[in-house]
Amino acid sequence: MKYSFILLFALMACKSSENQLTSFAKDKHTAASRTSARIKHLDLDIQVDMDNRILFGEANYVLDENRNSDTIYFDTKELVIEDVMDPNSKEKLTYHLFNSDNILGSALEIILKEGTKAISITYKTSTNAAALQWLNPEQTAGKKHPFLYTQSQAILARSWIPCQDGPAIRFTYNAKVKVNKELMALMSGENSVMKNDSGIYTFKQTRPIPSYLMALAVGDLAFKPLSENTGVYAEPIDLDKCAAEFVDLPKMMKAAENLYGKYQWNRYDVLVLPPSFPFGGMENPELTFATPTIIAGDRSLVSLLAHELAHSWSGNLVTNATWNDFWLNEGFTVYFERRIMEAIEGKEYADMLQILGYQDLQEELKAFGKGHEDTRLYLDLDVRDPDEGLTDIAYEKGALFLIHIESIVGRKKFDSFLKNYFQSNAFKTMDTKGFLNLLSKELINGDEKLAALINAEAWIYESDLPNTIPSLNSEKLEVVNKTIVDFAAGKNAKELNTKNWSSHEYLYFIRGLPKEMDTNQLRNLRLVFDFANSGNSELEAAWFEHVIRHQYKTDYKSLENFLMKVGRRKFLMPLYTALASTVEGKKYAQDIYVKARNNYHYVSIQSLDELLK
Ligand SMILES: [Zn+2]
Repeated sequence: MKYSFILLFALMACKSSENQLTSFAKDKHTAASRTSARIKHLDLDIQVDMDNRILFGEANYVLDENRNSDTIYFDTKELVIEDVMDPNSKEKLTYHLFNSDNILGSALEIILKEGTKAISITYKTSTNAAALQWLNPEQTAGKKHPFLYTQSQAILARSWIPCQDGPAIRFTYNAKVKVNKELMALMSGENSVMKNDSGIYTFKQTRPIPSYLMALAVGDLAFKPLSENTGVYAEPIDLDKCAAEFVDLPKMMKAAENLYGKYQWNRYDVLVLPPSFPFGGMENPELTFATPTIIAGDRSLVSLLAHELAHSWSGNLVTNATWNDFWLNEGFTVYFERRIMEAIEGKEYADMLQILGYQDLQEELKAFGKGHEDTRLYLDLDVRDPDEGLTDIAYEKGALFLIHIESIVGRKKFDSFLKNYFQSNAFKTMDTKGFLNLLSKELINGDEKLAALINAEAWIYESDLPNTIPSLNSEKLEVVNKTIVDFAAGKNAKELNTKNWSSHEYLYFIRGLPKEMDTNQLRNLRLVFDFANSGNSELEAAWFEHVIRHQYKTDYKSLENFLMKVGRRKFLMPLYTALASTVEGKKYAQDIYVKARNNYHYVSIQSLDELLK
């Protein structure tokens, strides 16, 4: 027994490093793939100038000893490089900054001397650094202090740190960050729990991470523990509300560990950001960044936390090799997220989440149109912005594929496969081929009939969905379907049986409402449910789609407030797109956008500038 285990691990280690090398060479989104010279550790020193919106930095990199090259490449984007030297010999190093590319930025080539073991780069960021979102005091909940946060994924870390910005390159880091005394700094590593008088904060991340997981937030922040190893950071005014919303986090952690093995990081804390954050959450190690739009007051949207927590295994521990393999990060995480929710809320709850996710997938497929190559799980982004791969295909088609495998091999077998996947590949990179190899070796095992049933190649390399997909059922949502039929047939909303509905049932109800309703029906729904002011961002956004389609002006003020406040791209895109479908609507959308644009992060702005030009 012992032998076979050792042999298996040795084989897998070998396989996986081969994969890492070949996929790394193919990573077109980082200049670092041009050379064998790599970094292994970063000592970062940053001064944050909130008034002028600039970071002054010094990045000291320790190089990996195994290099066959006398040049090393870093990615930068709109950084001003001031000096490059060898910190040990204090000698200046020759460097060259290449012309800037819109998406990739400028490659920084440094000529290494014999014996160069470390490099120090002194730099500052530009005022339009894509990863950095600087907020005025008015854009925060407390309204008194400015705020800064970063969003590095996918290839924006290079706009605030010169780095080897590909997901296959991992490094550990120590950091020192200096901020104004009334503010506190947090990073994706070990954090302080209190403000200090010096304004100087130090951090360390002892586990190797890729650059897209580098993160920094600066603001008037406070901490509240939820358990021994979990807690929440937020602006003081929101702290209690956030802690109350996240009370199930320790339970989620236990459920996740029961499923796929021990949590391999130090702590797990959540930072709740101001509303401009473009995503639901970002799985920065040990400190998830989360949108305040999940604070619904009734814990109904906390599955997002389960998602970010699951990334501590899928993504942060086993990382997609290139952005073409993004589905390995997100598909696994959505699957894992729903398993956590099933463990703590029951199967019916998880079934509803799955069906709502399937609706999202259907919408995405419809938007792409039949046969579109971006509906394949394995993408061919070439040098396109990796953000273009950030669609429900990676998330929902990816998760559906895993459910499909589970339904064929059985949950027990699949769970042990996944547990082993996370343990054997911890702190390593995985590409799609590597996953297929593991699948074939550990689950299919030469069984041709089983291979045909799983049909992995079709799921991964073909557009749309294969003919055989898992059947999804939810008794609770069946009941909602009947309610929708009743309402469409003329029943008063007041008389619909919505007793004990969760927000999932309401969301499914809103999505299922007839495409054409008359003003009386809209008014009736508004009087009974007032979704526009429900405080639940999912319900509000889904309702506003009906509001826009019917030009139901009564709720336009609420729509406008929502767009002014919320920066989450998932909500913004469908609403602005719907508005822009008529001439009058587009004018209205442009008027709101002019006022709201400052509240949005670069990631959302990129998409919206294009839509509303
Ligand atoms: Zn995710």
